[in-house]
Amino acid sequence: MEDKQDKRDMETKDDEYEKICYVCRRPESKAGPMITMPGGMNFCHSCMQKAFDSVSQSGLDLSKLQNMPYMNLNLSDFPTVNSQNMDIPEKNKVKKKKEKTQEKLTMKDIPAPHKIKEQLDRYVIGQERAKKAISVAVYNHYKRVMLQESEAQEEEAEIEKSNILMIGPTGSGKTYLVKTLARLLDVPLAVADATSLTEAGYIGDDIESVVSKLLAAAGNDVEKAERGIIFIDEIDKIAKKKNITNRDVSGESVQQELLKLLEGSQVDVPVGSNQKNALTPMTTINTNNILFICGGAFPDLDGIIKERLKKKSSMGFNAVLKSDYEEDPDILSKVTTEDLRNFGMIPEFLGRLPVLVTLQGLTKELLVRILKEPKNAILKQYERLLMLDEVKLVFEEDALEWIAEQAIKKETGARALRAIIEEFMLDIMYEIPKDSNIGSVVITRSYLEKSGGPLIEMRG
Ligand code: ADP
Repeated sequence: MEDKQDKRDMETKDDEYEKICYVCRRPESKAGPMITMPGGMNFCHSCMQKAFDSVSQSGLDLSKLQNMPYMNLNLSDFPTVNSQNMDIPEKNKVKKKKEKTQEKLTMKDIPAPHKIKEQLDRYVIGQERAKKAISVAVYNHYKRVMLQESEAQEEEAEIEKSNILMIGPTGSGKTYLVKTLARLLDVPLAVADATSLTEAGYIGDDIESVVSKLLAAAGNDVEKAERGIIFIDEIDKIAKKKNITNRDVSGESVQQELLKLLEGSQVDVPVGSNQKNALTPMTTINTNNILFICGGAFPDLDGIIKERLKKKSSMGFNAVLKSDYEEDPDILSKVTTEDLRNFGMIPEFLGRLPVLVTLQGLTKELLVRILKEPKNAILKQYERLLMLDEVKLVFEEDALEWIAEQAIKKETGARALRAIIEEFMLDIMYEIPKDSNIGSVVITRSYLEKSGGPLIEMRG
């Protein structure tokens, strides 16, 4: 009985994946029905025909068949590959497109901007303007996806893609914002780093690797991936390099190659790997409905903005305001595409990221709130851990301020908070469970400054 059930489970599991031609690596959906050979090898009709042709013309010469994936393979690398069972690793399989394609989006499925923001508020502290702008951009993006899927918009104005460029200092929550967003919307997310991208053919990752990553995040389900989000971090690192003599393979040319992805195109990507090679099957992904968010800290951009504002004001009557720019903590919010062009981003690239969002550097007050308020705040996590020992953990307000002050010194935004807390919480977490009479611990500023101890109260 169980055996039968297992077999059925296996079959349905296998049914979820497409067959892939062993010669040209195209999946069934692209190459048509497959001919399955003993041992589980599949061939598409055209490769089979080529094989017959080459046999009838000049005898069987497998080397004439290009890209024979298993020809140079050391089979011991693949425990599941043997003569009986030539199995492709799971991560390299493409999910079949279901007969009934994924449910079409309707207005009901798309949360309104204020709903999206409300959800973001539970995790991301501050950055009000950025959260608002992103909520609206995402709302519009999925409306556009819905219209495209309904195919009824022929004569109507076509809605442009609302890809986002996010600018903000390190540790201000760029990645966190995007990750939270993808989780709330329940769409797959790929986070890539622009520094590792290079022009095709050079050492580094191809541009398409970012789409491969998204496909992997979507469990190799092409349709799901086509509605996902791709976040490319450190985008400022692909600015045009100034004064270089050799070819700029990781800067301007990466921007050039990203253009077609950003605006929407069909790309062939390897499945289950970010390198194209003879072994990995390929599939095609349409990036038209993928939301691209590019983020970066853009160091020195504030200098460029100030320079522009100063020039402008020195021409008018309001030269007195000049010094205001110098101290403006929110100077990034005054950024224009002209400043970004001066930074080294090419106009075509900026044109494909129409939504410009800036994040502020986190102040002491915001850092204290980040410690306490988010749904998964660090303090809440520690309180919960100690609660399991039936110990109440309390942080005094000025202790929290001390932590925030230390984090600001490290200049890595909220990222520094956890490390600072972990350093002193280690002792607490080690010592407290020793004595089961302890009822509560209060972390004071003097304890953190190493001039006193925590306040400990016994049960009683
Ligand atoms: P970056 O802007 O460099 O991408 P991250 O988003 O990676 O920074 O932030 C690092 C960590 O700091 C996040 O994982 C998150 O826990 C915390 N964090 C940063 N900004 C915020 C914020 N505004 N609200 C809540 N947590 C934040």
